[in-house]
Amino acid sequence: MSLLELRDLSVTYRTESGLVPAVRGVDLTIEAGETVGLAGESGCGKSTIASAVLRLLPPGTEVGGQVLLEGEDVYTMKPGRLRAVRWTSAAIVFQGALHSLNPVQRVGPQIEEAIHLHGQATRSAAQTRVGALLERVGIPAARASRYPHQMSGGQRQRVLIALALACEPKLLIADEPTTALDVMVQAQVLDLLAELQRDHGLAMLFITHDLSVLTHACRELAVMYAGRIVERGASGEVFSVPEHPYSAALAEAFPIIGDPASRLAPSGLAGDPPDPAALPAGCPFHPRCATATDECSNEDVRLRPIGNNRAVACLHPRSAAVAGPGGAPGTGAGHG
Ligand code: ADP
Ligand code: MG
Repeated sequence: MSLLELRDLSVTYRTESGLVPAVRGVDLTIEAGETVGLAGESGCGKSTIASAVLRLLPPGTEVGGQVLLEGEDVYTMKPGRLRAVRWTSAAIVFQGALHSLNPVQRVGPQIEEAIHLHGQATRSAAQTRVGALLERVGIPAARASRYPHQMSGGQRQRVLIALALACEPKLLIADEPTTALDVMVQAQVLDLLAELQRDHGLAMLFITHDLSVLTHACRELAVMYAGRIVERGASGEVFSVPEHPYSAALAEAFPIIGDPASRLAPSGLAGDPPDPAALPAGCPFHPRCATATDECSNEDVRLRPIGNNRAVACLHPRSAAVAGPGGAPGTGAGHG
């Protein structure tokens, strides 16, 4: 049984100006101890997936398909069961949460509160645990008595990770955990996450727009565009031999891990992803695609297998173009 399985997940927000189909039929599986990366520009639906996993979407949002955590459907759980599952089964470090720590409370008690909130441990056991959690994320236990403003951005991000680990989740969802940090600190947090995965068997769904970061941190990669996964495969392959023109553009935009220049001005990809409430006909990427044909503006192509553990949603995957018409796609050879 997989730790997390999204089956044909769709999420539609209700807004005053109408329905916003932010996620449209996503299948994604994470096994215990495995790290999967979710890439894509801002607005593609990544954070919506993160919230959907733990049923944290705004009231009234329509959710279709299934979210299975250890085989159990999150959307049919009773409230008590859902509370138990949040944090102990899966925990999220939210995007932009760096300022979400309570500024007038010392960090130790904030972590302790999370431990108690989930009914775990006595007072003294919780305090011991706070120290151990801080040490685990590379912060001396004595700093539990500091206030958030007495810590650097990198340390605050580590505190947030310690908070998420408070109840020993099996899955950590990290939504842009390093985006707000400078390059050096970003690398340290990435090393920390890799270490947690290696030493504690933590599974991770790692979300960022920066493909190079994911390649560093994850074995498997899914690239999202306009609410769908458009390419999936081993991260090194997706990064170095992308099949979808969108993955290729992302790989070009972020050639070096955390490179501040490319983060400020991603090259090689003009324009923005479409508004989910006004998707273009056909392949949603076709208006920005350099290799789109007439077919692409008519046919809405879904994700399909292309060779070894690889899938792509494109009428003209790059290996097919290299092999030529009638050539065998999916060998992954011949690019460069
Ligand atoms: P990403 O994390 O990839 O940047 P999001 O999941 O945040 O993407 O957003 C996907 C789409 O859903 C965007 O068009 C965004 O404007 C829209 N969206 C996100 N949250 C809400 C909400 N609460 N209500 C309405 N639309 C939303
Ligand atoms: Mg987001």
